[in-house]
Amino acid sequence: MNNFTYIRVSSVKDAVQRSTADENAMFIAGGTNLVDRLKVFLDEPSQLIDISRLQMQRIEQLTGGGLRIGALVTNTAVADNADVRRDYPVLARAILSGASQQIRNVATVGGNLLQRTRCPYYYDTAFPCNKREPGTGCPAATGINRSHAILGASDQCVAVNPSDMCVALATLDAVIEVEGPKGKRQISFADFHRLPGNTPERDTNLQPGELITSVILPPVPFAKSGVYLKLRDRTSYAFALISVAAAIDKAGEHIKDVRLAMGGVAHKPWRPTEAEKFLIGKTANTEIFQQAAEIALRGAQPLSHNSYKVDLAKRAIRRALTVSAKGGGVI
Ligand code: SF4
Repeated sequence: MNNFTYIRVSSVKDAVQRSTADENAMFIAGGTNLVDRLKVFLDEPSQLIDISRLQMQRIEQLTGGGLRIGALVTNTAVADNADVRRDYPVLARAILSGASQQIRNVATVGGNLLQRTRCPYYYDTAFPCNKREPGTGCPAATGINRSHAILGASDQCVAVNPSDMCVALATLDAVIEVEGPKGKRQISFADFHRLPGNTPERDTNLQPGELITSVILPPVPFAKSGVYLKLRDRTSYAFALISVAAAIDKAGEHIKDVRLAMGGVAHKPWRPTEAEKFLIGKTANTEIFQQAAEIALRGAQPLSHNSYKVDLAKRAIRRALTVSAKGGGVI
């Protein structure tokens, strides 16, 4: 039994001050991942700071184009928003592929950004785990690792980021806005999540006391062609074995710009930037997409049970790029 205090705050400033003053405090909003972790004592906070009533629940159009999505907007509200569906369809489709309707109705954008890996060893406290308790070991590295990483892992941790929403955001040049004890700052999406390295206990580059306040979606020309392909063991309520978000901006048949991101392969949404560079200026066709997929997986280092992911990812990339090149739509 872990005793903690609970307080509902009414301002971002109050939330930040309380969090800064107590390093063992945690924010709670939808709680769809955090409450699961509390139940099995993965997190043992001294206090829960309930931010769910803060004024961060709007999606607003920005002057000059783009959207600002408040951190407390629910996943359902994002996926149902007319501006998101029209201008950033990849985001709506990625969100709708994740969790269940009930969970999406409660889960927030900020919480989705912070959800932690579903590595089974992490949740089972009978096993050691470097993410849960640094220095104890990583049983997944030599154990059952069918769902684990093939890119960017370390000998400390081979877990993957479980979010669908984040794979879509990785293709949209999103920016995360945060407020902390030193004021407000913006973090480019590519710099928000971390690879495990020697500090697998840290998933993001948030600093102590910082609170996510919103996500900015800039007006990028490739966004409307964005597609999301998710491959999993069953067709609903399952995490991705492999997922791919792709968005192409074409001039005729030539690729002017492209974004590609993968889920289910690494500790963070994985942007194969070399493959993106290869594609720019090329003619959009299956052969080019296959070559891009080979480049994207060039550095893959599969574990004992997940070499299947390498070929699956290549096929998913080829398929997602093909559909995006035709203007997008549902895969
Ligand atoms: Fe823990 Fe990461 Fe290893 Fe899973 S992969 S057991 S989360 S250290």
